[in-house]
Amino acid sequence: MPHSSAIPYPWIPSSLKVVLRFLSSPSLAVILLVGVMGTVAQTPAWGQTLREKVTFANTDINAFWAQTFRSIGRKWYSPRSYTYFKVIKTACGVSGPFNALYCPRDHGIYLNIPFLVRADQRWGDFAAITIMAHEYGHAVQRQLGLSRLNRYLYQEELQADCFAGVYAQYASRKGLLDANDAREGYYQSYSSGVAQFNPNTHGTREQRAEAFRLGYSSGFKSCLKYTVLKFRR
Ligand SMILES: [Zn+2]
Repeated sequence: MPHSSAIPYPWIPSSLKVVLRFLSSPSLAVILLVGVMGTVAQTPAWGQTLREKVTFANTDINAFWAQTFRSIGRKWYSPRSYTYFKVIKTACGVSGPFNALYCPRDHGIYLNIPFLVRADQRWGDFAAITIMAHEYGHAVQRQLGLSRLNRYLYQEELQADCFAGVYAQYASRKGLLDANDAREGYYQSYSSGVAQFNPNTHGTREQRAEAFRLGYSSGFKSCLKYTVLKFRR
């Protein structure tokens, strides 16, 4: 599939796009977006410690998807969330350091604490929540029949990024995000991508950041464009 190496900025006026086209790094564009995407909040709603944050995000992301599923006539089953420091055994095999995983076989979310800490140190305090929201995105797919049990295609990974953006939008509407948070989620998604496109990975940096942005700006239904299963039956 052909894809552009430049990050698309559909929400920016076209005069700005011309300027941005000359920049290979997304940083300036993202800085310009801060005012567009964020709302102002003084203290993070998720508390100070990582443990408080994980607890908060588990509750809030579940609440969001329960509400969204109700609106489409479905019942949401909360996945069980686990944290670990080194390795953990799951029904999908062992999950190692610097990893986060949703296992469809046991409907569990496995979060490596050093991985979340590092993400927050690099990108800011919404980065770890973005990782969690991505894993919840896989739980959404599982319950809606949008993914398979064994491995994910890159489209399914992008859809999970998109669902993470949808959650970020909800958090923003509730006034939970400060001016930088959506940017941090965007950066987290960007940094998790690969430099060269390969269909067996999570997608490129640009694809991942764009998927997060799409979910953030256009909502749940926009993420269904990544659905591949219906074409494989
Ligand atoms: Zn994933």
